Amino acid sequence: MSSENESHRLATRILWGLVAGIVLGIITVGTGRFFPGVLSAAQNASEHVLNPFGQVFLRLLFFVVIPLVFASLALGIVQLGNIAKLGPLAGRTAGFFFMNMAIGVFLGLIMMNILNPGGSLDADTQEKLKSEFVGQAQNVEEVRKNQAKLNFNTLVEMFMPRNLMQSVVNFQILPLILFAILLGAAGTQMAEARRQRFEEFLSIVTELMTKIVRFALLLAPYAVPALIFSAIVRVGLDFLLSLMFFVLACVLIMVIHLFGTMSVWLKLFTKRSPIQFFRSIRAVLITAFSTSSSNATLPTSLQVSREVIGVSNSTSGFVLPLGATMNMSGTALYEGCVVLFIAQVYGIDLSIGSQVTLLLLTVFSAIAVAGIPGGSLPLIAGLLISFNIPAEGLALILGVDRLLDMARTTVNVGADVVTATIVDEKLKPAT
Ligand code: ASP
Repeated sequence: MSSENESHRLATRILWGLVAGIVLGIITVGTGRFFPGVLSAAQNASEHVLNPFGQVFLRLLFFVVIPLVFASLALGIVQLGNIAKLGPLAGRTAGFFFMNMAIGVFLGLIMMNILNPGGSLDADTQEKLKSEFVGQAQNVEEVRKNQAKLNFNTLVEMFMPRNLMQSVVNFQILPLILFAILLGAAGTQMAEARRQRFEEFLSIVTELMTKIVRFALLLAPYAVPALIFSAIVRVGLDFLLSLMFFVLACVLIMVIHLFGTMSVWLKLFTKRSPIQFFRSIRAVLITAFSTSSSNATLPTSLQVSREVIGVSNSTSGFVLPLGATMNMSGTALYEGCVVLFIAQVYGIDLSIGSQVTLLLLTVFSAIAVAGIPGGSLPLIAGLLISFNIPAEGLALILGVDRLLDMARTTVNVGADVVTATIVDEKLKPAT
């Protein structure tokens, strides 16, 4: 398919951009040791040209945050309400999806707390990062104080301010998330014809916003090297090490979730050997890895589940399309990791209470993520804002996002096929 080829080409160009940005950054910092003029010229160029250019990419994503969070979350909830009406098979499938996403985020948060990839930066680099990337966002000290004050009162204030519109204007996402959930729940109570119209309206808004994300991604092959080069020449090589540590930590957690958690389910609910199982679905995993899109992988996962695994047509036809839009355990896991990493980089301590809230929000927001490359980026921006972490911090991980998108999509889709198999063999109500 031509759009798949285009997506491949785009991914290759982004990855080459990443390599070029890193190599040029390292060369510039190295040369700067002998010729300081070179480094300061590069820093100037980053400040006045490259970073603002990278910001255009980021701002395109920020543009869509409010309408996308609102529409896609409400849509997810309306659809969930419908699924629940479909009976026990649907309810169990959705329950399994939720549990997998929650376990994925839980693993991610635990590992990020233990490995602390963002905490290894020295105080000097941390200061530079704050001043370079926080920009016009709020000052980090204030943010730190706000994080510490989480109690029942502040929770009510955070989620239910007196004026929803004002909170939207101030880019506070939590009230919007709650409002979208309420609206979706209310939508499920409407008469069928009106509910369908409401669902269609929400899906049109979601589709439009997703198209803007695609526009933004067209800039990615240029924005990624610009941002990563800027970060290296302005903050130094320590940051690069932290970023590499973050990438390795994310990949490790994703591998544990895909081949660990899923193997436990396979052993527990089916008589299949996990190794054999993953071997037989490797075409699905490779397609997900190379397209970074759950949607684009759907035809392959349907075919392999039916013809290789032997999942019935009815179960695969129901679970897999639903999973491609809803079951994003790799994405949920990744969202939690990014929020924690950027908080660590800025020296912002997220309390246990905040991390539990983060777990719930990542699961909900992952349901709202479109199964396309980079689908989660605007929602991650929304999550950062929800936790008072400057969303500009997203610039720090954009360079490596595509790489991790390949990995998280593989987890998303792998978990879909495992769920379809288990539902087919164990959870299907007896007829
Ligand atoms: N690329 C992911 C998917 O299609 C979504 C994301 O996390 O960006 O499954």
